[in-house]
Amino acid sequence: MDAPPLYHEAHRIEDFQRNLETVRTRIVCACKRAGRDPAGVRLLPVSKTVSEERLRMAYAAGCREFGENKVQEAFHKAGLMADLPELRWSLIGHLQTNKVKLVARFASEFQALDSLRVAKALDRRLQAEGRGLDVLVQVNTSGEVSKFGLPPEEVAGFLRQLTGFSSLRIRGLMTLALFSTDSSKVRSCFVLLRELRDRLRQETPAGVVLDELSMGMSGDFEMAIEEGATIVRVGQALFGPRATPDSHYWPEHDHASRERHRPLETKESPVLGGYS
Ligand SMILES: *Cc1c(COP(=O)(O)O)cnc(C)c1O
Repeated sequence: MDAPPLYHEAHRIEDFQRNLETVRTRIVCACKRAGRDPAGVRLLPVSKTVSEERLRMAYAAGCREFGENKVQEAFHKAGLMADLPELRWSLIGHLQTNKVKLVARFASEFQALDSLRVAKALDRRLQAEGRGLDVLVQVNTSGEVSKFGLPPEEVAGFLRQLTGFSSLRIRGLMTLALFSTDSSKVRSCFVLLRELRDRLRQETPAGVVLDELSMGMSGDFEMAIEEGATIVRVGQALFGPRATPDSHYWPEHDHASRERHRPLETKESPVLGGYS
């Protein structure tokens, strides 16, 4: 027998409304368990690979921002949907310096800053455009050999170097947890990011406010909220399963991501709840 579908494909506005409601309810429940105010958790719908047609339905269902991993895809979609009022775009994937020009033109937020070269180039382009950008620093909390994200011990120094770039508004830290079916290992990535933020807060340079913790995706956002997430990046639980393998976005996760095909299930948060 096939397992029941984990993620429900959304093709109509009502599907999006239902998926949004389910995810929001799960966020509220996780906040309750953690004694947190749900208003302190922002749901960022992650729309990579999703077509313009379906994104317009998600917009109609209430989404006012989308997160994209790849700059070109995001820029293309932002152009197609420039008619939609109040729609914001957040970039959550690695950025090369030759793409900063595009980012400076349309993005509201960049969550994956981890290099001074990119910061410099971004700041220069943003100055030219007369725009500012909310920025999160990506941290490698998994200890995996990863091309992306700074090792935790390098973040303090990196933040000091960023203060010269007046168009970059530093908001906090972002991470991708370890891709593992061992939930205690996943949780320790979230704990590490929170503790790092709390430590860095006490020594941040003037003007830097480290409030945001962007952590948690469709498979683990409830656990991330229990550990302090202020932004959860959720794709498949809103839009439906994605055909493109995760290795397309995170090359270093090639084999491990297959193992994480199923979301983590904890006693407190059965992931299949919400549909009856
Ligand atoms: C795709 C992506 C997500 C969302 O993953 P889902 O499994 O679809 O929830 C979160 N963060 C980043 C950086 C991503 O690229």
